[in-house]
Amino acid sequence: MYLYNSATRKKELFVPNHPDIVKMYTCGPTVYHYAHIGNLRSYIMEDVLEKYLRYVGYNVKRVMNITDVGHLTSDADEGEDKMLKGARREHKTVLEIAKYYTDAFFDDCAKLNIKTPDVVEPATNCIDEYIKIISKLMDTGYAYFAGGNVYFDTSKLDRYYIFNDFKEDDLNVGVREGVEEDTNKRNKNDFVLWFTKSKFEDQALKWDSPWGVGYPGWHIECSGISMKHLGDDLDIHCGGIDNAFPHHTNEIAQSESYLGHKWCNWWMHVLHLNTTSGKMSKSSGEFLTVSLLEQKGYDPLAYRFFCLQSHYRKSLVFSWENLDNAQGAYNKLIARIAALKPEDGPVDESVVAALKEKFCAALDNDLNTSLGVTALYDVLKAKANDATKLAAIGSFDQVLSLRLLEKAAAKREELKKQTVAAGEFTIISESGESDAEIEAQIRARQDAKKAKNFAEADRIRDALKAAGVELTDIPHGAKWKRV
Ligand SMILES: [Zn+2]
Repeated sequence: MYLYNSATRKKELFVPNHPDIVKMYTCGPTVYHYAHIGNLRSYIMEDVLEKYLRYVGYNVKRVMNITDVGHLTSDADEGEDKMLKGARREHKTVLEIAKYYTDAFFDDCAKLNIKTPDVVEPATNCIDEYIKIISKLMDTGYAYFAGGNVYFDTSKLDRYYIFNDFKEDDLNVGVREGVEEDTNKRNKNDFVLWFTKSKFEDQALKWDSPWGVGYPGWHIECSGISMKHLGDDLDIHCGGIDNAFPHHTNEIAQSESYLGHKWCNWWMHVLHLNTTSGKMSKSSGEFLTVSLLEQKGYDPLAYRFFCLQSHYRKSLVFSWENLDNAQGAYNKLIARIAALKPEDGPVDESVVAALKEKFCAALDNDLNTSLGVTALYDVLKAKANDATKLAAIGSFDQVLSLRLLEKAAAKREELKKQTVAAGEFTIISESGESDAEIEAQIRARQDAKKAKNFAEADRIRDALKAAGVELTDIPHGAKWKRV
């Protein structure tokens, strides 16, 4: 498999460090609020990567942190702790907030059919790991104590910017509006490893340390949690593109200074989900959640399908119209799969293997899910019996995770029930949509035919045609589509 590596800015042949296991680390959510669907785009694409690696035979151990302390509102080292801010907003304790939003995050993931990583570790569980790393960084001169905090000294590095296709000025934490310059820092990009002096006296969670009672910085938690569960090296580290700087840059700085060798080989970054007015974020007006999509009548898996239709390294523009299109295409896909007959067999394994080859060629090329979806449509057009097509679709869906067979089976059941309810007269919408008015007209035409009133039957058919609806008679029913 070729996978783009943000650290080298090249597509590279993926070869894990150890033949028997792929070590994968994912930056998890800061659980102070609901995840918005832009955040969830990253988790969907990372889920596809993990599942694809397993699909082609790798063992994967995937670890994710839950940030329940130490993530400040500026995403850097200044401002208020996001957890504390959430707790204040909702008049709850930090632990209550963490529990509530961790559960909410995994509920959203379940609705999007995202697998829970093998290890999910809250940042507050690993204080000893952070202290161990920071102590060594202090001993070796990579860290210093100033104004009550421990900072990482970026001037000690030969190379600090790893993902330097970013404009440094755009990302310079010191110049952001509303963020105070931290005068304890020796260098602009130095960052806090351990806080003992918070501006906020009521910082809820604190621990003892060699530098005083305090709490860890945000960046150290991912290094500590990764090393605790995956050891001294890592194959793939993933996250949203906004984590590349400063978060991942700082993770590399502290991890490699601590270990004395290269830490992680591949860096995978998923690009933003934009709205038509710009980047989606919690602070801008457009805060879209999975629950909101559901309230508006969308299937969360239609959002997953929407994400899969584009490449993870391209920004994706969200609009309700785009989501409508994805929902329509997803329904139609389910309807087409439902029309396949499982009993039309046997499965031709050589045809499945040939179809699979095309699917893998797409995913092997830097996880091209959009071509993976095309390979799925190719199955429907393939010269093969239905059981063979269903076998191929079921296979691809181990990676795409759109619940295609499950939804198609439910659709078949639904059609069967309609058949019984309608006295053996089935109405099939070829697009998968349902329209009560059109269905009523079709039934009226059927009644007219039964009563041998063929003039009326033809009149209804012509009226539907004039309204852009084409009817085809099938045994014991009719199917229709818009033309
Ligand atoms: Zn992280």
